[in-house]
Parts: sequence; C-alpha cells; structure tokens
Amino acid sequence: MSKIVKGIEASPGIAIGKIFLYQENELVIDDKKKCDSDCEKERLLSGREKAKEQLLKIREKTAEKLGEDKAAIFDGHITLLEDEDLFDEVVELIEDEEICAEIALQKGIDDYCEMLANLEDEYLRERAADLRDIGKRWLYNVAGVEILDLGSLPPNTIIAAKDLTPSDTAQIDLQNVVAFITEIGGKTAHSSIMARSLELPAIVGTGNICSLVKSGDNVIVDALKGDIIINPTEEEIAKYQEKKEAFFAEKELLKQLKDKEAISKDGVKVGAWANIGSPKDIEGVLRNGAKGIGLYRTEFLFMNNDRFPTEDEQFEAYKIVAEKMEGKPVTIRTMDIGGDKSLPYMQLPKEENPFLGWRAIRVCLDRPEILKTQFRALLRASAFGYIKIMLPMIMDITEIRRARAILEECKEELRAVGAKFDENIALGIMVETPAVAFRARSFAEEVDFFSIGTNDLTQYTLAVDRGNENISHLYNTYNPTVLEAIRMAIKGAHEAGITISMCGEFAGDENATAILFGMGLDAFSMSAISVPRIKKNIMALDKAKCESLVEEVMAQKTPDEVLAIVKKFNKENLK
Ligand code: PEP
Ligand code: MG
Repeated sequence: MSKIVKGIEASPGIAIGKIFLYQENELVIDDKKKCDSDCEKERLLSGREKAKEQLLKIREKTAEKLGEDKAAIFDGHITLLEDEDLFDEVVELIEDEEICAEIALQKGIDDYCEMLANLEDEYLRERAADLRDIGKRWLYNVAGVEILDLGSLPPNTIIAAKDLTPSDTAQIDLQNVVAFITEIGGKTAHSSIMARSLELPAIVGTGNICSLVKSGDNVIVDALKGDIIINPTEEEIAKYQEKKEAFFAEKELLKQLKDKEAISKDGVKVGAWANIGSPKDIEGVLRNGAKGIGLYRTEFLFMNNDRFPTEDEQFEAYKIVAEKMEGKPVTIRTMDIGGDKSLPYMQLPKEENPFLGWRAIRVCLDRPEILKTQFRALLRASAFGYIKIMLPMIMDITEIRRARAILEECKEELRAVGAKFDENIALGIMVETPAVAFRARSFAEEVDFFSIGTNDLTQYTLAVDRGNENISHLYNTYNPTVLEAIRMAIKGAHEAGITISMCGEFAGDENATAILFGMGLDAFSMSAISVPRIKKNIMALDKAKCESLVEEVMAQKTPDEVLAIVKKFNKENLK
C-alpha cells in the first residue's frame, strides 16, 4: 500500500527513485572507562589514515567536477589533518589522562581551534572552521561511524533530510540525484532557490519525512503538487511516469519562446530576466531565453570557498558572466551573507534573530575591505559587458551614500592605474525592507535602479520568517499589505524616473504576472526555469486590463480575496 505525504513544492518537476536518508550518524562516546594508551594511539593513527584517504578521493572528484583550483583546497585540509603538533597534543592527552582516542581528539581539536581563533592573522583564524570539519571526519573514522556524502550517490536517488543547507545543496551529485525532500524550510529558503536554478525537483516543509522513510524505499516526488508517494504501486509509477513526460514536453514547448521578447498584446515590453547563483547557471539562462540577469547572488562565490575570494577570483567570475551575456544587463548583488547564509571561515556571531541581524550591507559597511574588494572586481569586469551593481538589505539612505563613497574611492584607484571600467556603472538597491517601500521616492532619488526582493520584503512586512514551515501558511505575498508595499515601490521609482524590476520569487509566480504588469513593473527576474512561462503570460496580457485588475485587487482586504480575483482574471485572460 502506498502512502502520500504532503509538503511545499519548492522546485517543479516529477521524480521517481529510491530514498537516501541524509541523517548524521550520532557519535556516542563512553567517557567513563580507562583506556590502554597504546591501543588508543593505534586507533587515532588509523582514523587519521582513513580520513586522509577519503579527503584524497573527494579531492579527485572535485578536480573532475569543478577543476584543479577548487580541488587544491583539499591539499590545505590534508596538511591540517597531518599537523604533527596537534597529533602530539592528542597523544599526550591519551597518555596522561588514560582517556580514549575520541575524547582526547575532541579536546585536542577544541583547544587548537580556540588557539587559532585568537590569533591576529586573519588567514590562520579562518582555518579554525576547516579544522572543525576535518576534525569531525577524523573523529568519526576513529569511532568507526560512517560519514554521509551527498557528492557520490547511486542513480535515481531522492535525498530525504531534515534540512539541507545551501552548501549541502551545492555538493549534490546532479548526475544521480533526481529530487530532494526536506522536513523544514519554505519556498524561498536558499536551498529551494538553488534547487530551482539546478532544475532539480524539490519538496520542503514536510514535517516528518525522515521518520516515514528509510534508505532504499521507492518514492515518487510530485513537486508540481507537493505530494510524496511512498512505496508506490505499479499503476502509480506508470501514472507518474506519464505525468513526468508531459511535464518535460510542456517545458520543451515553452522553450520555443526562447528568442521572443516579453511584449504584451498592446505592445508594452518588459524585461524577462533570470536570477543566478554562479557563472555555471548561465547555461540555463540562455537555454530558457532570458534577456538579462536581474540578480546574481554573489554570496555563493564566498560560501563555496574556504576563505574570502580574492579580487582577481571575483573579477574572473563576474567577467565570465558579463561576456557570456553579450551586452545584456547583468545585475550583480554585493555579498548578502547572514540570515540563512553563513560563511564558515568568517565566524559570524550566533544571533537570536539572524534575519534581523548582522547581514548583507550591514556586514559590508562594517568590514569595508570586503566591499572594496568586491567593488574593484565588479568595476574591472564592467569593461567586458553591461554590469549593474546592486546593494542588498538597504533600510537607510546613509547606507547607500556610504557604499557610493567606497565605490567612488575604488573608481579613483582604478583610474590612477589606468584600469578600464564603465565610468557610468549603475548603482541600485534591493527593495527588501518596508523602510524603503514607505519612502520609495526618497530612496529612488539616490540610486539608478530598484529591484524588489519579495522574499525578504514579505517576511519583513508581515513579520513572518521566510524559512519557518510552522508559519508558512502566513507567509503570503498576496497579502494586500505586501502588494501595497510593492505598489509603493514601483510608484516611487517611476516618480523619481528610475526603472524597477523584481528579483524575488514572486516574479516567477505565474499567478502574479498580471498584477505586477498592471502595477507597472519594468522587468521580471526569476529562476531561469520560470522565464518561458512568464514570457508567455505577458504575451497574452493587455496593460489597460491589468491596471483595472490592480484597482480591483487593491480594494480587497485579505489574501484569499485577492487570490480569488486574480485566479478568475487569469482563467479568463491567460492560456
Ligand atoms: C529577496 O529577498 O527577494 C531576494 C531576491 O534576495 P534573497 O532571496 O537572496 O534574500
Ligand atoms: Mg533578500
């Protein structure tokens, strides 16, 4: 008998495969017993050998998938693992205290990390996070407990996990993994956003999937509806196989719009752009016919690293994107770290409310050397295409002025050495806080463009955490207050004579196209996979009709009332 579990559809598609349960094995250590030192030293050494073998394998795979430069990170990890001072310290603990290798090693790593964290040298300080990671691998090997690896899994694997961090998602073996399911998270969590750009079906917020499945179970993931069918029957498999084929067929059909512009029936043209997280995503952008990049989330460049990327490394990444887009707009956002995106090597403080805390522009203005390096790289890359710079999480005009002053300083330095860059490079901001929406015109007078980040604007307007599945029913961009904030942002931008796009996930919501078009949005930027559908919607719409829809929608009082009107309108006007 099959069983159906419901979740939130985070990335569309259908997958049929076998579960891989991604749950950390627990390490239980008996700290009471006295141990034989020689035997424990032997275990310590053999655990280190095994950890080294595993790291060498990961290094080899990384070199194949991502190139030699990324693989070289693991050479540093192996050097740390083989640090003789650390080894001697742990052996001393085993001998002096007659404790087992696991306890001695854990203590040795903790002491060593604390020592590193207190050093002046930033590079050495940042090694503490690496050492924790390597130390864990060593510890698990000493204890004979398996370490789960998302990078090499059998064909047709569906990962089930409590949660996946963005860096877990980045490690997924895309050749063999066909979908993932998590217990927590919402549609706008960053692992969901990454799943969409990888075109990997995903269902999140299922509550308890890990206690309902075990590795090897057959499962169907219907990420169009949010259904997970555990142990499906033959008939169900056949039915979903058909649904999967129909989904692919429609995807192919929509791609025929690839070379078309998004122009409405009455001749109004808007931008149909894509969001990316890395230069690798450009392939999907071009395949889906996006005419620009409305958001390049650069923080993944910082996260998939074991230290801050250098100016040259950043320059290379931005230059590739600018060149591949051949003069089309490429909006690059400065590092938006914090919230649910951590940087292991930066040791961000643990905060009670990370989404309201030290994140994005706040980090960059407190650590201006980070912003300066990024601005210099962006300016240099601007000589190779049409780059626009965007600042995240703005809530005060002073933040813009301070960032602009740093940008001017960078321009001055580059001029002094004769480096080429776009003198008129556009500087814009994300509209993610009600603080900007309320006084949109004042902010708009300070910048060259706006882009609405509805993922954050919704959570900050409604005071509803975007990643908390317990309140995901409250997280609703169709809430009339959020729509009002969007309308105010568009109005303020246009009054000040600047353009405004949207790069939050709402831009890719096919139900929302008519309202946003009617409000006057200039460009829609979304996961590449959504571009063809939104283009098709625009081509079926009439601006004047959409303006009337907006009037009707804004007179409603609840999200459900709004949705009822929108759906009725879409039924009559789309398809
Ligand atoms: C947003 O907040 O809508 C946005 C696009 O930024 P991010 O999802 O990266 O926070
Ligand atoms: Mg945001």
